[in-house]
Amino acid sequence: MSTVAVEVIYRGIFQRTLARNIVRSIVFAARKEGKIGTAFGRYGDSPERNGIPAKQFAVVADNAEELEETLARYEPTEVDVTINVDDTMCKGIESWAWYGLQPINQLTKANGTLIVTSRQDADSLIEDIHQKDTAFGLSISKSTVSFSGLWVYKDDHTDARILGTLCNVCPQLFSFDSMAQAMAEQGNDETKVASARRAYDGATTRQVEPGEGSSEVPFTFDLLGWQAMEEGLVIRAQGKGGGFRGGDEGFQPDRNEVFKKFSTRSMRPVINFETCIKCTLCWLQCPDTCFDVTPDGLFDANMESCCGCGVCEAVCPVPDCVTMVSEADFN
Ligand code: SF4
Ligand code: SF4
Repeated sequence: MSTVAVEVIYRGIFQRTLARNIVRSIVFAARKEGKIGTAFGRYGDSPERNGIPAKQFAVVADNAEELEETLARYEPTEVDVTINVDDTMCKGIESWAWYGLQPINQLTKANGTLIVTSRQDADSLIEDIHQKDTAFGLSISKSTVSFSGLWVYKDDHTDARILGTLCNVCPQLFSFDSMAQAMAEQGNDETKVASARRAYDGATTRQVEPGEGSSEVPFTFDLLGWQAMEEGLVIRAQGKGGGFRGGDEGFQPDRNEVFKKFSTRSMRPVINFETCIKCTLCWLQCPDTCFDVTPDGLFDANMESCCGCGVCEAVCPVPDCVTMVSEADFN
């Protein structure tokens, strides 16, 4: 068999549990046949942006090496089966993770299968689905689209019907009996296994030919790169060796004009020049290069740069030479 990859495309948080149940069941069923698999999610949304298309994947392999090879990628670049649990997404999907419209069948392999939960018939759905250069199968799991809401999972057997259909269209994955066994072991009752069986027995696949389907060109955007959006995104590095004030005036490094974080400070170091032994440790260890060298060769923290971390106080070998003092004590 080598590797079989399945993606479940779902409406964000409304269908997350449904998608998770499907991919988990795929892996459990595969294990019944001594295979190895994993399930994982991508692009999941949160309540603030609910309903955004997201994906979960199940990858099944004959052995660990094959699985590891597949998982070296961020996600599969093509899948044997795409499962779409909301037929309105047949028109294409745009998640928060990319800009532009992705055809629902973009990852579906040549001669792979797209399973859609829908009350529509195949010809009607094909009008919405973007055409491909290669043939694929379209199998419809007849039911109303399942939306379980944000926090409550409504067990309307959609996952069972999808899994039954999957066993029919992708027999190289596992047998229906293995799936039924895995479902029962996950606590699904007999009625649910029966729903899967009915879907398995009744599943049909409509061949979609190359070039058949919507000819719409999915919309895309020409996005600006980070170099075109310098203001607000880019903090330029300091020039090499630039801007030192030295000689009789001491030594002060060039500092960034725009990157300041001193307002985060709750404490500031106060240096006792009377006891400083000029060991340079504070100057060397300060993570923000805050220390200026005074004309007398002492080290003084520059308050335009200091974030108040206290490292200088910790490294100073002279007791009470560097003291962290609350910002509230300064006007
Ligand atoms: S408190 Fe931290 S940031 Fe400020 S001078 Fe000391 S070491 Fe540098
Ligand atoms: S670590 Fe203390 S003694 Fe050493 S240079 Fe800094 S302030 Fe002076």
